[in-house]
Amino acid sequence: MNVLVINSGSSSLKYQLYDMRDESILAKGRVERIGMDSSILSHEPGNRPEVREVSEILDHTTAVRKVLDMLTHREFGVLRTIHDIEAVGHRVVHGGESFGESVLVTPEVKLEIRRLFDLAPLHNPAHMTGISAVESNLPDVPQAVVFDTAFHQTMPPSSYLYAIPTVLYRKHKIRRYGFHGTSVDYVSRSAAEFLGRPVSGLKLVVCHIGNGASCTAVLHGKSYDTSMGMTPLEGLMMGTRSGDLDPAIVPYTINKEELTLNEVNSMLNKHSGLLAVSGISSDMREVVQAMESGNESARLAFEMYAYRIRKYIGAYAAAMNGLDAVVFTAGVGENSDVLRKRVCEGLTFLGIELDEARNAVRSGEPRLITADGSRVAALVVPTNEELLIARDTYRLVAQSRTPESSGPSGTGKGT
Ligand code: AMP
Repeated sequence: MNVLVINSGSSSLKYQLYDMRDESILAKGRVERIGMDSSILSHEPGNRPEVREVSEILDHTTAVRKVLDMLTHREFGVLRTIHDIEAVGHRVVHGGESFGESVLVTPEVKLEIRRLFDLAPLHNPAHMTGISAVESNLPDVPQAVVFDTAFHQTMPPSSYLYAIPTVLYRKHKIRRYGFHGTSVDYVSRSAAEFLGRPVSGLKLVVCHIGNGASCTAVLHGKSYDTSMGMTPLEGLMMGTRSGDLDPAIVPYTINKEELTLNEVNSMLNKHSGLLAVSGISSDMREVVQAMESGNESARLAFEMYAYRIRKYIGAYAAAMNGLDAVVFTAGVGENSDVLRKRVCEGLTFLGIELDEARNAVRSGEPRLITADGSRVAALVVPTNEELLIARDTYRLVAQSRTPESSGPSGTGKGT
C-alpha cells in the first residue's frame, strides 16, 4: 500500500510518500508560500536530486493537485497514476480530549476537529484545509488523522489538571494536553527495541528537543506526565518560547510596558527563549558557536536551556519512582553533543555516566551514549513522526477493509 503523509500548515504543505511493503520513502517534498506570489514546490523523487518549481499556488487544493502532478510526472514522478495512492495520513496538532488515538477521517471526526479550533487556532484550521484539499483531489481515497496530543491522553488527572477553579476545566477544558506525542510514542518504542526490552517494562524520560522542546515521562509505554501544557508554551525553554514562568508576569508586564495581551502572547511565543536570552539566535548551532567564541549571553542562554532539561529529568524520575533511560531526540537532541553532555553532567546522582566518545558519534541510528556500567542509560534516537503517521494510516485503512470491520475503526474516546 502506498501512503501519502501530509503536514499542512497555514501557508505550507509538507509531504512524504511511503511504500508500506518495506516502509521506504518513494518521494518527499514541500510547498511553501501558498496563497502568496511565487509559491515554491520542492520535490525529491527517491534518491534523485531535488526539483524546484516556482508558480502561483493560491490555495491548498491547488497545492495538493501540484503535488499529485509531480508524483505522477513523466520525468520526476514515482507513480504511474494518482490511483496508486491508497491512503493519506495527516498530522493534526490538537485532538483535545476527544482523540486518544489516530482515527480514520469521517464527517464526525471533521466536526470534532473543527470544534477544537479554539484550542489550536494556528494549527488545526490549517490541518482541516489540508484534509479538504485531499478530499477534493482524491475523493475516494481514505484519510486518517494522527494527533500530537493523543499519546498524552493517558496522563492521570494529577498530571493534567491545573490548580485553578475546576469550573474552568469543566466549562472550557482548560487542562494540560501535551504535544510531540507522535514523536515520543515512536521514539519510546524504538528505544525499547534498541534496549531489547518491552516498552511496558520501562521507565523513560523522552527529551524531544527541537525548535519546540518537551520532556515526557513515559511509564510502561504510556505518557505519565509531559512538560508542555494546554499550549506548547509551557515547560522547557525553547528556541523562541519562554517555557515555564510565573503567570503573574503577564499582568505585571502589561501594566509596566503598556502592552496588549496579544503583544505579551507574541513576546512569550516568538521573542523569548534562546533568542531573547542570547540576543543572537533561536538556533542552538549559532548559540553554541557564539558561546564557544566567548559570548557571555550565549553561555547564559545555553546554561539555562540545559538546566531546565536537567530539572525536568530529575522531576520525572521522581514522578515515576525510578528511571531506566533518558532518550534524546529531534533537531537539538539528536545533533548537539555539547547540549547532551551539559544535561547529563548533572545527573550522575541518578546513575547516568556519559561516555564522551559515544556521545560525540554522529549517525542516523539509535545509539547508546552512556558507559557500559551506567545504571541508567542515555540514548539518542532519531525521531520519525512521518513514519508513525504512515504506519497508523496503513493499520487503520487495512483494518477497515477486513470483512468483520463495520465502518471506520479505532475512533478515539468520545467521538
Ligand atoms: P526540529 O524542530 O526538530 O527540526 O529542530 C530544529 C532545530 O535543531 C534548529 O533550530 C537547530 O536549533 C537545531 N539543530 C539542528 N542541527 C543542530 C546541531 N548540529 N547542533 C545544534 N542544534 C542543531
